[in-house]
Amino acid sequence: LMTTDSTRRGAYDEAHLRLAATIADHIAIALENARLHDSTYQMAMTDALTDVGTRRRFQVEGRFLYEAAQRKDQTIAAMMIDIDHFKAVNARFGPAVGDAVLKRVAEACGSDLRGSDLLARYGGEEFVVLLPESGAREAAATAERMRRRIESLPHPGIGGAVTVSIGVAWATPDDTEGFDTFIQRADEALYQAKDEGRNRVVLNGGPDQTPS
Ligand code: GH3
Ligand code: MG
Ligand code: MG
Repeated sequence: LMTTDSTRRGAYDEAHLRLAATIADHIAIALENARLHDSTYQMAMTDALTDVGTRRRFQVEGRFLYEAAQRKDQTIAAMMIDIDHFKAVNARFGPAVGDAVLKRVAEACGSDLRGSDLLARYGGEEFVVLLPESGAREAAATAERMRRRIESLPHPGIGGAVTVSIGVAWATPDDTEGFDTFIQRADEALYQAKDEGRNRVVLNGGPDQTPS
């Protein structure tokens, strides 16, 4: 809605009306562009299959959350989650069943998180979570709850359970390693979880290895 007004009666004529219409056209185009930009942005930031964040969202918003935690003198935790033997699920039951499993796992991950946590699909069947204000114990407990929930999900068309391995890392405001190294530590913990037999949570405490 665009209005113009004047204190003088009969202040506007045809020329004013045409001018107002021209201005309104320009505003409408600008609004439409802004709306288009917003929907394109959301598309780039939301994974089409699982509806969680994309890796791009994680890179942008995750870094922001990490830096905010350091500034506010708060701890922050990260989780790397990878579905166990997912290739076999695809091979035995087909990619459509695999896709359905991915959706269910992503949804299950979300249900153990707070609104302020960031969940994203990091790669094919790998998810990443950032938990601002979470210490080691809290993050480990959340990861374990998530692991159990996923283990007990029903999957129509699949005989057994689908499990995940989870690597957890946390950072204190004193850590100077930076965002990428922090995430890399969660990834290392994930690889350790795979090595140790899968369907488990492994913690990587960072430089001093002291849970807080
Ligand atoms: P591991 O326990 O070591 O993680 O074994 P894995 O079989 O899960 O190993 P890997 O990470 O190598 O395999 C991931 C597989 O996930 C490979 C790929 O075919 C499948 N995948 C990746 N993205 C998708 C997807 O969007 N849909 C489906 N159905 N499968 C996908
Ligand atoms: Mg896997
Ligand atoms: Mg993988």
